[in-house]
Amino acid sequence: MSLSCFDPRFGERMLSVDEALSVLGESLAGVMRTPRSERVALAQAPGRVLAETVISPLDVPAQTNAAMDGIALARASLPDAASGEPLSDRGELSDHCELSVIGSSLAGHPWTGRALAAGEAMRITTGAALPAGADTVVMQEQLEYRSTQGEGEAGEQVVIEGVTSIRRGQNVRQAGEDIAHGSQVMAPGQWLTPAAVGVLASLGLAEVAVYRPLTVAIFSTGDEVTAPGETLPAGGIYDANRFSLVALLRDQGIEVLDLGILSDDEASVSAALRDAATRADMVITSGGVSVGEADHVRSALAACGELALWRIAMRPGRPLAFGMLRATPADAASSSGQVPFFGLPGNPVATMVTFLQFVLPALRLLSGQQRLAKAEASASATTLAQWQAPRLQLIAGETLRSRAERVDYHRGQVVLDDQGRQVVMTTGRQGSGILTSMLLAECLIEIPAGCATLHAGEPVMVQWLGSRGIV
Ligand code: AMP
Ligand code: MG
Repeated sequence: MSLSCFDPRFGERMLSVDEALSVLGESLAGVMRTPRSERVALAQAPGRVLAETVISPLDVPAQTNAAMDGIALARASLPDAASGEPLSDRGELSDHCELSVIGSSLAGHPWTGRALAAGEAMRITTGAALPAGADTVVMQEQLEYRSTQGEGEAGEQVVIEGVTSIRRGQNVRQAGEDIAHGSQVMAPGQWLTPAAVGVLASLGLAEVAVYRPLTVAIFSTGDEVTAPGETLPAGGIYDANRFSLVALLRDQGIEVLDLGILSDDEASVSAALRDAATRADMVITSGGVSVGEADHVRSALAACGELALWRIAMRPGRPLAFGMLRATPADAASSSGQVPFFGLPGNPVATMVTFLQFVLPALRLLSGQQRLAKAEASASATTLAQWQAPRLQLIAGETLRSRAERVDYHRGQVVLDDQGRQVVMTTGRQGSGILTSMLLAECLIEIPAGCATLHAGEPVMVQWLGSRGIV
């Protein structure tokens, strides 16, 4: 789209979610910069974003080792139990054979003696290095020891059952089979999941460079909005949004500046926004952006930055303000001097749904995350849509209705129908003020614009949030 989102004509027409995301991506590209980095101990790294390329300093596993308890041997040198001949000299194998055990290799205590010769084996435990001359491990369950001496001592014999089924290299983990020495393991932008920190630990790294977390300032707005813990005045409503937003932000590793509740008063809103812009990388408010309402967020924003009021063809969450606050470069957390601003709608479900559609992708982009995919065919790193919750196709468990001209996000839960199939059902009443509809939600059911009725049994796309309520 060539029209700048700050062009007054921009707000005249209804935008689709995809158009809004693409315009948002273009605007953020202008303020995007690589976040500063710091080194942290590995234990502090989960939930952070990697800021360096990780090249493996070693093979993982470091040595070829046993994947089972049993004996190590050279497959090609298995003798035939009947004749004592090496295998390679005979066309067929008998199913038993007997080997001499020359010692043992234990995890952490590798064998340091001579290499195995034909007809010899070594006791070995899972994770122990394979001795020189061995390439195969036979598991304990196939073995019977005939011990004239102590375990693993010279003189001990082992009888192997099922010799014909033994394949060269079985039950052996090759050195470097997980990670090869010198290979690239991770790139900047990797979100440090439990698996990622496990992999870094397996490389022996005690600390790692990560991006500094973004700081996001949040406000609730509205004369009726009351902090939990206070007495609810007549006409009051408790402030749900600040708490759901703090939780959504923390889940993304964001540092939150919780700046409380603002009354519906332009002067205080604009002073607060000005202040927040000097301290945060992004500012988010909820409430006060509805068209027709005494609208202080909008006019306050016009005074301290650029604002676009978007009408988005979605429910819940049609009105959404996006803007850039001017921050004095000297004291701004953002070196670009511009701090992105989101004015989310006040209805609590709309707040969360618009956060998931627009703010979450923006945060992931600005925090330096890269979507690292195995397939090279994944979307380009600059498109914001890749940071929305993943879309899956499920089967509707009930008939769903929508206003045809906009996308509807029903809150959904996966349940088993009477035939034991997984289907998706709404979580109950779906008004944008019914926050309990998010309580059971594992996904947002997307009923696309142009679809008024979706029948039970038909395929439906969902944005998967997971059982914790966020991807
Ligand atoms: P607004 O967008 O300010 O017109 O608010 C829309 C609806 O959301 C109104 O019913 C508000 O009372 C409600 N609302 C606004 N902010 C909050 C909040 N922080 N927590 C709960 N409800 C809110
Ligand atoms: Mg309000």
